[in-house]
Amino acid sequence: MSLSREPVAVYVHIPFCPSKCGYCDFNSYAMDGEIVERTTRATVQEISRSPTAGRRAKTIFFGGGTPTFLSERQLISILEAVVSVHPPTEGCEITSEANPGTVDTAKFRAMVGSGFNRLSLGAQSFLDSDLIALGRIHRSDAIGRAVVAARDAGFVNLNLDLMFALPGQSLRGWRANLDRALALAPEHLSLYCLTLEPNTDFYKRHLHGLLGLPDDDCQVSMYEECLDRLSTYGYEQYEISNFAQPGRECRHNLCYWHGEEYAGYGPGAVGCIDRVRSTNLKHPRAYSEAVEAGLATSYESETLTPELIRMERIMLGLRLNEGLPFTPDLPEGPLARVEQRGWVRRESDRIRLTDAGRHFCSEVALELV
Ligand code: SF4
Repeated sequence: MSLSREPVAVYVHIPFCPSKCGYCDFNSYAMDGEIVERTTRATVQEISRSPTAGRRAKTIFFGGGTPTFLSERQLISILEAVVSVHPPTEGCEITSEANPGTVDTAKFRAMVGSGFNRLSLGAQSFLDSDLIALGRIHRSDAIGRAVVAARDAGFVNLNLDLMFALPGQSLRGWRANLDRALALAPEHLSLYCLTLEPNTDFYKRHLHGLLGLPDDDCQVSMYEECLDRLSTYGYEQYEISNFAQPGRECRHNLCYWHGEEYAGYGPGAVGCIDRVRSTNLKHPRAYSEAVEAGLATSYESETLTPELIRMERIMLGLRLNEGLPFTPDLPEGPLARVEQRGWVRRESDRIRLTDAGRHFCSEVALELV
């Protein structure tokens, strides 16, 4: 295999979870047994016949689903396949998402030993009542245990995911959550506002007025609490929902936000190479059958037109604190309008959302595209 072209980001989708959370719209399935092993083998096979084989990996990210639902052997077999097809660049960031309810020190040690060097723990909340309402399998004490196990195993780059604007959550409850997370000193925090996706149990309950979400003002205060509290603790916000200690930004996600190429493997994985974005078959069984039969694994693909690339550059670039490079194709009238509203500011060659504008990122993007 000759190493060709520039390095690429690599994403692997593991579509299994112990159970389905009520708010979840990801490509995940509460399945176990033979299909898990079959899908693992199929993923290894898909990687080994990748059309992008030979391009080095600049980042590798295992997401899901719940990657740590797999056994150590299964996880490592997939990582070994990635590494043999996409030899990692020096210092390559290799992340796995993990559910605090599906990990232990032995699994973490095996992961570190095989090359994983970053862990993203789906903590979501430190309040058991929130976790139960969300349908998560873990409880708050499992988060602290998972962090200790991860540190013991040698992970020095750790993210915690937390969610706010949960059913029945108060501003005080959210502050307490942030404090518990900060006490664990992760290198990175991803703080997401709960979104209601159609086809989820939460969406249906919301339509029937049964969810009890905090009102808009409370949600704004919760977000502002993130900005205040995290800057006090030395975290820099670098994207609307993401905060990192200096130098600990998620390099894999930055590849997406910068519109760079990425290879995707596994059921439902999306890849974007040479301006063609392809999505794999979503169901593990359909995906595995296609791989085993030597058929294409993608079920849809689109060629990114210059106009689509421009739109995505604006929408993704605005989310970043570094802002959007100023280019002549940005329409002057709409730009002046959002500037007047105090949502963006121009700084030499870039456009950045203001603090107020962070609440209106979608509106600003819509104006500019
Ligand atoms: S653990 Fe994550 S991917 Fe799995 S069902 Fe829950 S929200 Fe979805």
